[in-house]
Amino acid sequence: MSSTLTDLSMLELAAKLATREVSSVEATRASLQRIAQVDPKVRAFLRVDEPGALKAAEASDARRHAGSPASALDGVPVGLKDIFLTEGLETTCGSRILEGFVPPYDATVVRLLKEAGLPLVGKLNMDEFAMGSSNESSAYFPTHNPWDLTRTPGGSSGGSAAAVAAREVFGALGTDTGGSIRQPAAFTNTVGLKPTYGRVSRYGVIAFASSLDQPGPMARTVGDTAALFQLIARHDPRDSTSADVATPDCLTGLEDGVRGLKLGVPREYFTAGMDPEVEGTLRASLEEFERMGATLVDVSLPHTKYALATYYLLASSEASSNLARYDGIRYGQRAKDARGLKELYTQTRGQGFGAEVKRRIMLGTYALSAGYYDAYYLRAQKVRTLIREDFTRAFQQVDALVSPTSPVPAFKLGDKVDDPLSMYLMDVYTLPCNLAGLPGLSVPCGFTQAGLPVGLQILGRPFDEARLLRIARAFEREHDFFRRAVPV
Ligand code: GLN
Repeated sequence: MSSTLTDLSMLELAAKLATREVSSVEATRASLQRIAQVDPKVRAFLRVDEPGALKAAEASDARRHAGSPASALDGVPVGLKDIFLTEGLETTCGSRILEGFVPPYDATVVRLLKEAGLPLVGKLNMDEFAMGSSNESSAYFPTHNPWDLTRTPGGSSGGSAAAVAAREVFGALGTDTGGSIRQPAAFTNTVGLKPTYGRVSRYGVIAFASSLDQPGPMARTVGDTAALFQLIARHDPRDSTSADVATPDCLTGLEDGVRGLKLGVPREYFTAGMDPEVEGTLRASLEEFERMGATLVDVSLPHTKYALATYYLLASSEASSNLARYDGIRYGQRAKDARGLKELYTQTRGQGFGAEVKRRIMLGTYALSAGYYDAYYLRAQKVRTLIREDFTRAFQQVDALVSPTSPVPAFKLGDKVDDPLSMYLMDVYTLPCNLAGLPGLSVPCGFTQAGLPVGLQILGRPFDEARLLRIARAFEREHDFFRRAVPV
């Protein structure tokens, strides 16, 4: 029973919970059993909260029994990237410096999921402070891709993607600053949505680059992604950049198809260096969209070539400022033998941060320093505007943009750890969307000969997530890649 139960989509499980064919306790136990069975190999979890999850499941079953479920997904067990503050449950953000840190409150999105009745099964591995594309910068251990355990599940929300793909949880939350929801989704045959900047609250989400960070849903199907998104897309007065817009209805028009839509294909996203199998799969997917009644339009986003440099300047600058708060005084770890305040700071930070985080802090501090500010930070801000304007122009012509999510399928663990630049290049197609604040989604679009998943990225106008989901669903309906059995 348990193995087939964990294969259900969130909406399929929700339907069985609604008819009380299955209880939330059964579903949560199945999830916990699956974790015990496969996580020693996948290593998606930093922490499993069995008592918390089962208690929430019992409460959910009691609500079902009383005929008053809290939401459409009441009782469906999910996981959380370890970047989300969870009251009373250790939260490390993949870093040693926060080892042992137990937050006194929940992130808004965590509170929303609890209020909606979803048992939270545990905290998922990630690159340290969400800096990375492979999960290898986690201070604890790398997560393995369930489709090939010698490969990365992507990053930084690699734990979330791997747990969803390996059927350890039915869905998860991740965050995306430059691609961290979409790239791991593409690497693991899962769906990931990075919402419009401001759509989902950042309150209680450990900050990396505050002008780019955005939490979002990760799941096995487009419908699940839409349902989870609707639970967290809420205005929040506690986040000063939260947009005061109504929660969208993404499920009603989900099956409406793509007939009559204009889909832009950005020339700059089909460049040399793309893996030939990824390119082949993508081209075939574009033809399918045409067959389904969409019109493909060749578009240009001319400033794309500056996006990577712009992103790494701005994200590192913001990170260097955000991470100043980890000083050994207020949070997490403190150096043991420091003499004096200055030594306490330098030793705590020296011991607590890993190499990638230190690299970003140094890059950012440099870009913000007097004398270099105008040449780097300020100029990057101006280029960011040009990149956003490219998108605004494109969206006057088309309804959405389609591209690869990642230039390559999942690469081998260890392949890129010594070459930060080649790791940064993983984000070329995902990070312009963050710079422009737009919504973006990755949906499975096939497999390579070696059985590695390939993802298709769909980018849209601000607050147009419902349309992105609808386009993704039109594609998914033709394939159902999510039924493919994961080999782990
Ligand atoms: N890989 C990118 C980085 O390292 C994006 C990370 C993210 O989106 N959190 O910055």
